[in-house]
Amino acid sequence: MLTDPGAVPRDAIAATEDDAKVDGFCAKCDRYKPSKAYHCSKCKRCVSRMDHHCPYTNNCVGAKNQKHMVLFLIYCNVQAVYALALVAYYGGYRGYLYDEGWLALVLTALLGVDGGMTLLFTGTMCRRQVISMQTGIGTIDRLKLAKGKPIAGGTPIPLSSIFGHTVLFWPLPLDPDFPPEVEAEILGFRCPRVADEHREPLWRPVSQETGLLSGEERKEPA
Ligand SMILES: [Zn+2]
Ligand SMILES: [Zn+2]
Repeated sequence: MLTDPGAVPRDAIAATEDDAKVDGFCAKCDRYKPSKAYHCSKCKRCVSRMDHHCPYTNNCVGAKNQKHMVLFLIYCNVQAVYALALVAYYGGYRGYLYDEGWLALVLTALLGVDGGMTLLFTGTMCRRQVISMQTGIGTIDRLKLAKGKPIAGGTPIPLSSIFGHTVLFWPLPLDPDFPPEVEAEILGFRCPRVADEHREPLWRPVSQETGLLSGEERKEPA
């Protein structure tokens, strides 16, 4: 919900010289637009490798948070299968519920309906995400293809470009770890580095004696 989906910042430039040759500009946000990005009309910004805008989280799903989306769907499917297995085991195979009264039967039926509907909904979405990773054709790409329009995706996405480079962290709900040199390639843009001496410090201590910020000189009245 609060993750950065790979929004293109104001000072973004092309990641490679080849990218720079392609005319990429978004007139709506008035900045560089990587070839693999789409402009989101809800968020009013360009998002790299944008899959779709999710109305439930009110955020885009893109290059930097697709991992969270896929993991969420997998977790939902696991809990749905577990719920259905419980219903099948205790309600069907062991037949316990018939001795426990009507309340247990109703609650078990609700659990079964919940598990079934969750599996149907998130299972379908999970299948689409797997296809999106295998083909590189995401949700927006699919809709555009249906209308015969050109798409930004279409190249299969390596798992490391979705889940990060540390395989140990893949099943955990952590932001994907992309090495800096690889991240620009994944996002399709980079930001020019500001030399440290020109960078404004976030916080500077105040001198107890002079009351001035460190590095600041007292201005003598003219
Ligand atoms: Zn834009
Ligand atoms: Zn959006």
